[in-house]
Amino acid sequence: MIVLGIESTAHTFGVGIAEKKNGKGRIIANVKDSYRTMQGGIIPNELANHHIEICDSVIKEALEKASVNLSDIDAVAVSQGPGMGHALRIGMIAARTLAIKLNKPLIGVNHCVAHLEIGRLLTKAKDPVMLYASGANTQIIAFEGGRYRIFGETLDMGIGNFLDTLAREMSLGFPGGPKIDELAKKGKRYITTPYVIKGMDFGFGGILTHLKKKLREGHSKEDIAYSTQETVFAMLIEASERAMAHCQKKELLLGGGVACNRRLQEMAGTMCRERKSEFYVPENEFLVDNGAMIAWLGLVKYRSASAKGTKEEFSPERIAIRPYERTEEVEVYWRD
Ligand code: AMP
Ligand code: MG
Repeated sequence: MIVLGIESTAHTFGVGIAEKKNGKGRIIANVKDSYRTMQGGIIPNELANHHIEICDSVIKEALEKASVNLSDIDAVAVSQGPGMGHALRIGMIAARTLAIKLNKPLIGVNHCVAHLEIGRLLTKAKDPVMLYASGANTQIIAFEGGRYRIFGETLDMGIGNFLDTLAREMSLGFPGGPKIDELAKKGKRYITTPYVIKGMDFGFGGILTHLKKKLREGHSKEDIAYSTQETVFAMLIEASERAMAHCQKKELLLGGGVACNRRLQEMAGTMCRERKSEFYVPENEFLVDNGAMIAWLGLVKYRSASAKGTKEEFSPERIAIRPYERTEEVEVYWRD
């Protein structure tokens, strides 16, 4: 079975192709084009125009990379949410058009769950706690009681947006996460920074205000970057460790663009070693938003639904965007 998946929840328009043959799943293409701004955040209309302009060529390139024709595709998958309406609609129109043209099923998938499932495909993780740290989302997710449940999450902005905003204050451009990552390596002095954990949740807004003040006071960008990473990553790892203890799980999986950060990976590795658990992180192209994870979860859902006779609808006319869908709302019928 071959599934083409379209990711379009935010700045990335991605197309992936997943295949299952002889009982083995693999990714045979993963292509993307991301909307960029020189300054400021995402402008919704510009974002929609970007996705409209490049959607055809990204689909074409993915087919070429996978060496398949449109007629080889057995089903189309699309990210339904959570995400920005302007972006989701373009992905949905592209996916629906393809599915109707090919007369194939259309499978809607949840973006956050797709991050977790691609990690399970590409690493040896079987039943992990996932720390999903991306631009707009920051959640700690684990499978409990038949669903993926959120054990901790941001109370305000996503950690990636937080890092990008801080980088903008430092005139570093977008995306700022990788730039803060580089600067932090040169930081020498830890500037006291608020550590904001409430129960299992965390917040970044107050920390951002504090760091902006430190910047105005003349502290070096390197020291600020270093102090930022040491503080906010420790918050994420602390909550992840508590989720692992609570769920009695022995695996931690990273997902999301911020998981590309080496210091975050290092802290996660140390925590897992100390509690005799395994630590898994897929390659960068599968950490950031990507079409491959949408294709893969689409394939998994479709095969499971066909085998079990689940009543989820896969008709292109009925699948709609779900901008506010939460991880725990998804019925996870494909896992036992
Ligand atoms: P995503 O929303 O999952 O596609 O991830 C995008 C986010 O990842 C942006 O906010 C980036 O700044 C952030 N990011 C990418 N690479 C790094 C890195 N090395 N360190 C920290 N953040 C990063
Ligand atoms: Mg994401």
